[in-house]
Amino acid sequence: MESILIIDDDYNLCAALREELAEVGYEAYYVNNGDDAFPYMEQHKVDLILLDLKMPGKDGFDVLRELADKKIIVKVIVLTAYADVKGAIESARLGACDFISKPYDFDELLITIRKVLQKDI
Ligand SMILES: [Mg+2]
Repeated sequence: MESILIIDDDYNLCAALREELAEVGYEAYYVNNGDDAFPYMEQHKVDLILLDLKMPGKDGFDVLRELADKKIIVKVIVLTAYADVKGAIESARLGACDFISKPYDFDELLITIRKVLQKDI
């Protein structure tokens, strides 16, 4: 089973998305800030991260930078309410595979998740 880690400070979004992903067969977990993501990844296999950009403390850009610094190979889809072109370009530059704007459409998100999980990085 492929595992997905949601990193988002919106607790309700995390809980809802985790349930939606579980219903279609993914093992999904979440943490509510960027700092908790790294200890989690040391303990668990993560195939894909769904990453919010705007979070208090370590934000999504910081998480992308830290993944690169620590040479952690993981696929990342950025999921953010602030669907600005600058954010998308910066995320891609920092290694994100794709970009979805919130509020997300689950079917669209699922297509993107399947596409990203299939490709090599
Ligand atoms: Mg946020």
